[in-house]
Amino acid sequence: MNIILLGPPGAGKGTQATRLVEKRGMVQLSTGDMLRAAVQSGSPVGLKAKAVMEAGELVSDEIVSGIIGEKLDELSADTGVIFDGYPRTAAQADSLDTLLSDRGRSLDHVIELGVDEAALIERIVGRYTCANCGAGYHDVFKRPKVAGVCDVCGSTDFKRRPDDNADTVRTRMEEYRKKTAPILPIYDARGLVERIDGMADIDVVGAEIDAVLDATS
Ligand code: AMP
Repeated sequence: MNIILLGPPGAGKGTQATRLVEKRGMVQLSTGDMLRAAVQSGSPVGLKAKAVMEAGELVSDEIVSGIIGEKLDELSADTGVIFDGYPRTAAQADSLDTLLSDRGRSLDHVIELGVDEAALIERIVGRYTCANCGAGYHDVFKRPKVAGVCDVCGSTDFKRRPDDNADTVRTRMEEYRKKTAPILPIYDARGLVERIDGMADIDVVGAEIDAVLDATS
């Protein structure tokens, strides 16, 4: 099964993708994670992407579709894929169709996580992760059980994304409205879109996603 999680920054795509990886053994392909890894390693892609990401703008379609193609080639044909943060433009949606059909895959669902934009800023600016194991936390909604210590691995080292500040988040939302939201009608016309309330509790959202996937598996 191949699915897309679509929604503005902070809608919970990463959280739900992680859950699907754990529950169903699917593979999460997050272009944001891949680009952050490229920036970290100082690779040519990372050097090109760094400033664009810090500004909250979109990295070029060629770069992101290129890295998605490379990752798909590493997977066996029967591995289910969750596309998280990709596609983000009509050109990327086109490329994804080709990337999938070239590999004998097809798209099963586009799950749109609907959210209240006003609440997103608070969600995003408060989030941080364990620098060691990647577990996610939030200043208000999900603090570690012992202050300053990761619940999962015990590390005391945490990090925040440089683009998770209020100004950059506004640009990221604007990019979503202008370039990403317009791809929904393309998938709607193909009967692929399922709309889920992303403001609900994480487990409630997860159960609704499960219901969509179980109805077709
Ligand atoms: P994310 O982790 O999905 O919020 O992505 C973080 C940043 O990476 C975005 O604000 C963009 O600068 C870049 N990015 C991630 N995915 C894409 C994509 N599919 N197309 C263009 N830029 C992307």
